[in-house]
Amino acid sequence: MTEATYDTDNIFAKILRGEIPSHRVYEDEAIVAFMDVMPQGPGHTLVVPKAPSRNLLDADPATFGPLFTVVQKVARAVKQGFGADGVTVMQFNEPASGQTVYHLHVHVIPRFDGIPLKPHAGGMEKPEVLAESADKIRAALRS
Ligand code: AMP
Repeated sequence: MTEATYDTDNIFAKILRGEIPSHRVYEDEAIVAFMDVMPQGPGHTLVVPKAPSRNLLDADPATFGPLFTVVQKVARAVKQGFGADGVTVMQFNEPASGQTVYHLHVHVIPRFDGIPLKPHAGGMEKPEVLAESADKIRAALRS
């Protein structure tokens, strides 16, 4: 089997380079977090390392400490910002798992008792809704 390689023109690489827009909620030297444009629930955020890898399988293990430090920050912020009951954290590796964008990222989704997630990579959310969600998360991150 031929191993797939990292494509420098994947959509998250373009977002990281600022070539296409995103609703950013967090950035440091290693990590960026922005709103998922097809949220599975309100406040669905993606936490993305700047270092290039397709997914967890080919990533440098040094990535995971900074990545999950920010996953925890964002998980706390979405729980607070959306008044959620819990938070789902998901991560997919290769097409068989449901991965659709081939740059490592972690999904952070606020959850509410009794409310199921919408389908993965379903409908596009309105930009104004994403902007409002991003504002709530930025405010929670500052507090
Ligand atoms: P995965 O299936 O884990 O690779 O998830 C990729 C995620 O990226 C999906 O939830 C998509 O909704 C999301 N997505 C795709 N394009 C964009 C984009 N331009 N900005 C933000 N999120 C995106």
